[in-house]
Amino acid sequence: MSDTSAHSTTSGTSSPYASGSVFHRLNPSDIKYRDEKAKVLRSYIVGRIIGEGSYGKVKEAIDSKTKKMVAIKILSKKTLRRVPGGEASIEREIGIVESLSHKNILSILTHFPIENKQKFYIVLEYMGGGTLTHLLENAPNKRLPLFQARKLFLGILGALEHMRERHILHRDIKPDNLLLDDDGDIKLADFGVADVVSSEIHNKLRENAGIGSPAFQAPELIASPTTGPKKPKRPNIDLIFKSDIWSAGIVLYIMVVGQYPFPIQGNIMLLFEDIAAGKFEIPDWVDPDCADLISSMLQTNPLERIGLEGIRVHPFVKNSIPKPAKSTLVGHHNIQSMWPNHDKSALASVVKKMKPQLEREEEVERAARDSFDQPGPSQEDEDRRTSQSSQSKCSIM
Ligand code: ADP
Repeated sequence: MSDTSAHSTTSGTSSPYASGSVFHRLNPSDIKYRDEKAKVLRSYIVGRIIGEGSYGKVKEAIDSKTKKMVAIKILSKKTLRRVPGGEASIEREIGIVESLSHKNILSILTHFPIENKQKFYIVLEYMGGGTLTHLLENAPNKRLPLFQARKLFLGILGALEHMRERHILHRDIKPDNLLLDDDGDIKLADFGVADVVSSEIHNKLRENAGIGSPAFQAPELIASPTTGPKKPKRPNIDLIFKSDIWSAGIVLYIMVVGQYPFPIQGNIMLLFEDIAAGKFEIPDWVDPDCADLISSMLQTNPLERIGLEGIRVHPFVKNSIPKPAKSTLVGHHNIQSMWPNHDKSALASVVKKMKPQLEREEEVERAARDSFDQPGPSQEDEDRRTSQSSQSKCSIM
């Protein structure tokens, strides 16, 4: 995921609209400005741009049915057609994400095309706290207190364990792809280069070396055949899965130390050489259990690298750390939302205000459906269609 200036953040708690109904607290001119910018798309009230990705914008929205915030990824079909394999990769990503269901993995709520706009929409859980990159940028010395780093790491571990159960390798674990919700809980996102793992695809994975971000890439996957260690002769799924464990180890190092273990110093081949040699240092002030876990996760030989079972019983994971005073934790920075109060009642009042526009959109849609498919689909058909579009193998075009 890319960082964008549109993602400039503000603290939700310091917002003058942090509590109470948003419309009770705003002055009338503010309300006009805010309403002017909101648009209705199907049953969603769409607000500001909250991110910009490789294939399109991400906007915040209110789901008028659930009265909850969501994020909508808007993909232009034209752009997707221009990118080699663009359409297929989105379809694959949706299929993979829909095969997963875990509190630390970002869910796709639904997806649908709108033909006359030549757009494809993916509705996601809303992550109001921005990315882990944002959190670290705002942290003193760019690192987190041990308690907080451990809590986020436990979330990443939960996601990894679930993916391992479902045989999914993420292949791009990094702070940009770890999002925080309004409560500061973490979810793994962006399964754009993820793959379903089997022993047979081991060779393919190696051929695809270079996928993901170089600084997070495991030695056994790095691009250069001269620098990468020899791949194991008989790989099993657990062994293949070790490359995601390596990337998670890099993330843990960055959260705790505030720097990269293998910094990029201009030349990517030098970076790969450092990775292949496993040349990195852990400062001696790092908690010994945490340092030991990082070392075990950053073993260059995947056979010697710790597995998920080992991580689960490692002292850094097993032994809780006393919770420090709240003030010592790094606060996540909420996205500057068009609706700063995300309470259900505040969002319900926005929905109420937008009711005429929502009803108009519903009528337009119904008319379009009726003219397209006589007689028009019943509500039952429509419900079935929506649930099929979010459950079945997706087809964008
Ligand atoms: P990319 O195409 O680079 O993978 P995305 O399109 O997935 O990136 O996301 C671009 C940016 O939008 C992210 O960096 C993040 O800041 C924001 N974003 C993506 N998904 C969400 C979400 N569910 N909730 C809030 N912000 C999001």
